[in-house]
Amino acid sequence: MSIKFTILGCGYSMGVPRIDGFFGRCDPKNKKNYRTRCSALISSKNLNILIDTSPDLREQLIKNKVKSIDKIFYTHHHADQTHGINDLRVFYLKNKTKLNVYADDQTQKYLLKSFNYCFRNQGLSYPPIMNMLDLKDNHKFVDKKNNIELKSVVVKHGNINSICYIINKKCAYASDISKIYDYDIKLFFNLKYLIIDCLRYDPHYSHFNLKNVLDLVKVIKPEKTILTNLNHEMDYNQLKKKLPNNITPAFDGMTLLI
Ligand SMILES: [Zn+2]
Repeated sequence: MSIKFTILGCGYSMGVPRIDGFFGRCDPKNKKNYRTRCSALISSKNLNILIDTSPDLREQLIKNKVKSIDKIFYTHHHADQTHGINDLRVFYLKNKTKLNVYADDQTQKYLLKSFNYCFRNQGLSYPPIMNMLDLKDNHKFVDKKNNIELKSVVVKHGNINSICYIINKKCAYASDISKIYDYDIKLFFNLKYLIIDCLRYDPHYSHFNLKNVLDLVKVIKPEKTILTNLNHEMDYNQLKKKLPNNITPAFDGMTLLI
């Protein structure tokens, strides 16, 4: 079995539609315009690695019939990447094993401050459900014949950094990014898939817009580019019409074989 990458959610921080029902320029009749907040799943036969815990995580795992989570990697600490963390309690209860969480220093600080009860014993009847572990440059997991290698690359995301994960050197996932640092650009050559932040058409200080993505694609030439973290201006069909064949908008539940 090969390794599957599932885009659990491809919506920007407020989701499409927003909580007040606002669709913006997105056609409500197209199911691909219903976008939950960004999370992703890397899976092989016996291993499920989650990237980020979006506030929509519960709905995402139910929809995609995900019955277990083994490890969690965080890209950064923003609310739309972290606030679904509490719903992972069920996997601790099922397995009686604490989940391993990997995050950079800034994200660790935020999670320990905001969701301390998930990691530290509070002296209450609810025990902690997770181990906080340091993010390394490279992590390797073996699932029988499958090796899953995650390389963490620090990228700029406005006034903070976030982590782009490159899986088996073939698939890069950067849901929140405003710049790849020049010294790391070499890591992005020869990709099969680039899954990349494309918030909107207009520039934004902490996200790539469509022009930024098209400029990057010209340089690094991935086989296929998938646009994620899309806001309410990015109607699926309208956007697809503007794109060459090797670039496509993501939709919730989209899967790729790495
Ligand atoms: Zn963010």
